[in-house]
Amino acid sequence: MESFYTLQGEGFHQGKAAYFIRLGGCDVGCVWCDVKDSWDANIHPQKTIDAIVNEALQSVPESKEKIAIITGGEPLMHDLTALTTALQKKNFQTHIETSGAHPLSGTWDWICLSPKKFKAPLPGILPHANELKVVVFNKSDFDWAESFALQVNPSCKLYLQPEWDKKEQVTPLIIDYIKQHPQWRLSLQIHKYIGVP
Ligand code: SF4
Repeated sequence: MESFYTLQGEGFHQGKAAYFIRLGGCDVGCVWCDVKDSWDANIHPQKTIDAIVNEALQSVPESKEKIAIITGGEPLMHDLTALTTALQKKNFQTHIETSGAHPLSGTWDWICLSPKKFKAPLPGILPHANELKVVVFNKSDFDWAESFALQVNPSCKLYLQPEWDKKEQVTPLIIDYIKQHPQWRLSLQIHKYIGVP
């Protein structure tokens, strides 16, 4: 759908330079989705993996911290084996942002699982998540977040992130919750505050 070099705005790697590759296609259907244009994969042009990787190489300076983040849409609607292999061959660390609603494919340096109520993650991805990031839309989402925290591995980082349009109401609830449950951390979408994609 698009690719761009920016800062990661969310979660554990917040603030790091990262090259985003947004793949078309999503069947999860979150009512508050901010990239609904991504849902229909057919309206976006197909590109070869070589073209995607070459564009990434042209955008990102050579360094030890080259990060490529595959996002969507729901990127796991595609088999990501060949894309992640090609990126890693060019020394990119491969990160994914996924709802986990489709089978895991690809080789990953970082898996951010962001489960969605609209289509639950498949159980197979839970032990592989490096980061669990739950978008909080209302109070009931805390219990829902805890149900996944019980299923990930003990080293998985736990994040609660206010849904953007509800942030005034839910951010204070999240702050209180984290003070009571300090295993969780706050994730803010800082890219939206600083005006970058
Ligand atoms: S999983 Fe992501 S892309 Fe798909 S509907 Fe939900 S927020 Fe939008």
